[in-house]
Amino acid sequence: MSPKEITKVDITEEVFKEPIEVINQLSSHLGLKYTKVIQTYVMEDRRLNLTLEDKGSSYFKGKVVWIGNKKDDTEGSIFCVDTRDEIKQINPTAENTENVTLDIKKELIKVSTASKTKCSVCGKNIEIFDEVTGCPICEAKAHRDHLADWVRMKHTCPVCKKSLNVSSTGVIFMD
Ligand SMILES: [Zn+2]
Ligand SMILES: [Zn+2]
Repeated sequence: MSPKEITKVDITEEVFKEPIEVINQLSSHLGLKYTKVIQTYVMEDRRLNLTLEDKGSSYFKGKVVWIGNKKDDTEGSIFCVDTRDEIKQINPTAENTENVTLDIKKELIKVSTASKTKCSVCGKNIEIFDEVTGCPICEAKAHRDHLADWVRMKHTCPVCKKSLNVSSTGVIFMD
């Protein structure tokens, strides 16, 4: 008897790191075809499924259109998903995700979500559909647009109060 075939792979670390790491995992297990456009890997066929789960029950599903990097070039991967009704971007980070599993047989990426962190600007939970960024000094997390707007107006971090600045593309940096 051959050992039991591996059908599920934990890809949490790869997803939190960068798209190419995710693509390497997908390529080694699934043989998907994609086209690289700048930092975005566009799927040539819409075979790969993605579901979001909360405590084991699925609440969102669709086909992966592309996997790309974050707009501000910080670590992490963004998944663009077509649900047939709409196109949504998923931003799995340590703030909103428990783990990410690749189910090889089902050609499915399963994201177990959990809102664990509140935005340091608006106080609301950072969800999977939200883009997140942080203070480069104290690492306080916030919705990307909220922190960028805050820094544009106040030139400080809302938590540690140190001097910060923001680029035209929304990158937060020490002033
Ligand atoms: Zn916010
Ligand atoms: Zn700070």
